[in-house]
Amino acid sequence: MTASGAVPPAFADVGTDRAAAERERPGLLEELRADPSTRVLVVHGDRVPTMDGPRLRLVAPTEAPDAAAWAFLGRDGRAGVLTAVLAADEPAPDLGAGVWSAVRRIGGELSVAEAGLAVEALSLGRWLLEAPFCPACGTRTVIAHAGWSRHCPACGREHFPRTDPAVIVAVTSADEPARLLLGSNAAWEAGRYSCFAGFVEAGESLEAAVVREVAEEAGVDVVDVRYRGSQAWPYPRSLMLGFHAAARADEDARADGEEIVEIRWFTRDEIGEAFAGRGDVTLPGTASIAYRLIRDWYEGAA
Ligand SMILES: [Zn+2]
Repeated sequence: MTASGAVPPAFADVGTDRAAAERERPGLLEELRADPSTRVLVVHGDRVPTMDGPRLRLVAPTEAPDAAAWAFLGRDGRAGVLTAVLAADEPAPDLGAGVWSAVRRIGGELSVAEAGLAVEALSLGRWLLEAPFCPACGTRTVIAHAGWSRHCPACGREHFPRTDPAVIVAVTSADEPARLLLGSNAAWEAGRYSCFAGFVEAGESLEAAVVREVAEEAGVDVVDVRYRGSQAWPYPRSLMLGFHAAARADEDARADGEEIVEIRWFTRDEIGEAFAGRGDVTLPGTASIAYRLIRDWYEGAA
């Protein structure tokens, strides 16, 4: 769904063959856990094992902790790829060499394929650990489809991992496209700025969510809403849908004072300084779609 010729943002999963049809096969997880060629990505809380590069450090099934929740991530060539998921409050397993790295921190430095795999494992793993009961009747569910669904033995319903759509918007000036509006969130340290973002509400289109979120957080009416690309963001289970939009009247811009405590119009030079690590403005990390949206504008591609 990326515009033609556009670079996919980090975390856009284009590299992994999920081999979804195989999930139907009974006994798939047991079969792959017994196969020494299978590769396992162990997840501990929001961390994955990495080695220099950084690269993910996948292990053989016998090296992974038995107590984990298991699921099928797909195929790397002929080899099956599984995830073994442990909650953050359990002790980190000893996997020998390598270190445990938060996906949030190292995601942007991994290859597209590896970042996609880590995000898939983290998103699915959260759901496996945190949603054991049937939302309709409260009965404990049984995991099926190699980790991709839950069956309720009491009411018969099937449940699937949930994804929450959220829009994220880079706002430029309609009159002066060389100006970019960013906001500073109340939860951030002073000087950190990013695009405006929020969850899509029930029954709302993406376009309506873009207009509403920017009006709420920054006070401006936006026009010329253009879709840029998406990024799965497993904190906790968002799908970030990135947009560019233009503010109709720059002078209307004001922070909502709650979620956004400060907003500011930036010039290209100011953003260039911040990308270079100079000055007192901090921008989003390279792993995020917010970085990609700001970069698009900076490079004149939006
Ligand atoms: Zn039920």
